[in-house]
Amino acid sequence: MINLELPQKLQMAQQMSHQLANSVFRPIARKYDKIEHCDTPEELIPVGQMLKSMGMSSADDGSKAGGGDHIKNGANMMQVLATGEMSWGCIGLMLSIPGLGLGNAAIQAVGTSQQKEKFGKLHCAMAITEPGCGSDSAAVQTSAVLDGDQWVLNGEKIFATSASRGDAVVVWATLDKTKGKAAIKSFVVEQGTPGMQVVRCEDKMGLRVSDTAAIVFTDCRIPKENILGSPDIADTAEARKKAFGGVMQTFDNTRPPVGAMAYGVARAALEVTKALLEKEGIRFAYDRGLNNSSALQAEIYRMEAELEATRLLILKAAWMADNKQPNSKLASMCKAKAGRVGNRITLKCVELCGSLGYGEEQLLEKFARDSKILDIFEGTQQIQQLIIARNVLGKSSSELK
Ligand SMILES: Cc1cc2nc3c(=O)[nH]c(=O)nc-3n(C[C@H](O)[C@H](O)[C@H](O)COP(=O)(O)OP(=O)(O)OC[C@H]3O[C@@H](n4cnc5c(N)ncnc54)[C@H](O)[C@@H]3O)c2cc1C
Repeated sequence: MINLELPQKLQMAQQMSHQLANSVFRPIARKYDKIEHCDTPEELIPVGQMLKSMGMSSADDGSKAGGGDHIKNGANMMQVLATGEMSWGCIGLMLSIPGLGLGNAAIQAVGTSQQKEKFGKLHCAMAITEPGCGSDSAAVQTSAVLDGDQWVLNGEKIFATSASRGDAVVVWATLDKTKGKAAIKSFVVEQGTPGMQVVRCEDKMGLRVSDTAAIVFTDCRIPKENILGSPDIADTAEARKKAFGGVMQTFDNTRPPVGAMAYGVARAALEVTKALLEKEGIRFAYDRGLNNSSALQAEIYRMEAELEATRLLILKAAWMADNKQPNSKLASMCKAKAGRVGNRITLKCVELCGSLGYGEEQLLEKFARDSKILDIFEGTQQIQQLIIARNVLGKSSSELK
C-alpha cells in the first residue's frame, strides 16, 4: 500500500532545514550573490557542525530515519528533503556548507567502511569534468599510475564545485587510456597534497557564492588506499559494464538531490510570485477550475501541479535508492523533469512579476540565474533523456549515443 506520509524524524529534519533556510540563508542570499570568490561564509561554519551533529550531512548513512521494518527511509530521502528546503533559501549557500560536497556522496555510495570513516567527515568536492570531457564522462584523460604504494595523478579538471574551499577532491582518472570506461576509477586527493594546484575559480551567472574551481595535477602522489572501488580493470564486456556501472552509481544518489535543488528554488520563486500577486489583489481559488480562472491564475495552478509532480518523482527516486532498488531511470527522470520545470518556473516568475521580477529588490532574478545550472550539471537535460531512453528501450550506451 502506498503511504506518502513522511516519518516523524524526516518531518523534523525537513522543518529544521526550512528554518535554517529562512533564518540564515535568505537574509544573506543577496549579500553573498554579490561577493563572488569569498572564503566560506562565516555564517555557514556553525551550520556544517550542526548538520553533522544531527546526522544530516552526506557522511551519515541515515539508516535510522524511520519507516518501519521493511521500508527504509535513509540517507537519500533525508538528503532530498533537506536539500529541497535549503535550496528554497539559497542553493549557492547550501552548496557552500562544509561537509555537504558531491564527493561526500561518492564516498558514501562506493567507499569502504574505512574510507567512509577516514574521509566521510571531510568536505569533499567531485572532479570529473575536463577541458575535453563533460557529458561524455568516459572520455576522462586525467591519468593515475600505480608506483609502489602510491598513485601518481596527472591531468586537468575544470568546473569542480567546492574544489577550492573543500578539504578533499574525489577525482576521476583513467588507469589506461586504451581501455575506455573500464579503466576509469575515482581517487580521493586531500587538499594540500603536493602536485595538486587550484589554478583558478570561475566567474559565474548563478550560484555565485559557491566556488567552482579548475585544478591541475602534476605528478600528484596519493596513498594506494585512496582509490574508491577496485583497482582491477575488467577484461570481459560484462565485467567492464559492471565496473563503470559502479562508478556511475554515484549519480543515482546525486541526481535526486540536484532535482531537489531545482524543486526548492522553483517553489521559492512561486511563493514569492504568489505573494506579490496577492498584494495586488489577485486571489487564488482552487475550487474554481481552470476555465473559470484568469490566464494568470491558470498559469500559477499549472506551475504548482508541475512542481508537485516533480516532488513526487524525486521522492520516489530517493526512496528506491534507500531501499536498494535500481533507480538509474528514476534518478534521471526526476533530474530531467526537475531541471526543466525549475528553469521554466523561475523564468516565468520573473516574467509575471515584471520589473519586480527582473530587478534586484526581490530574489526572483537570482532564483532564475541559480536555477539554470541545475539542468546542466550532474548530466544535462539531453543526457538525462538519453539515459532514460536507454533504460526504456533496453539499449546499451554504445547502441544509443
Ligand atoms: C557551476 C558549475 C558547477 C559544476 N560543478 C561540477 C562539479 O562539481 N564536478 C564536475 O565534474 N563538473 C562540474 N560541472 C561541469 C558540468 O557537469 C558540465 O558542464 C556538464 O556535465 C556538461 O558538460 P560540458 O559543459 O562539457 O558540455 P558538453 O558535454 O560539451 O555538452 C554541450 C551540449 O551538448 C549536449 N550534448 C552532449 N552530448 C550529447 C548527446 N550525446 N546527445 C545529445 N546532446 C548532447 C549537452 O546536453 C549540452 O547541451 C559544473 C559546471 C558548472 C557550470
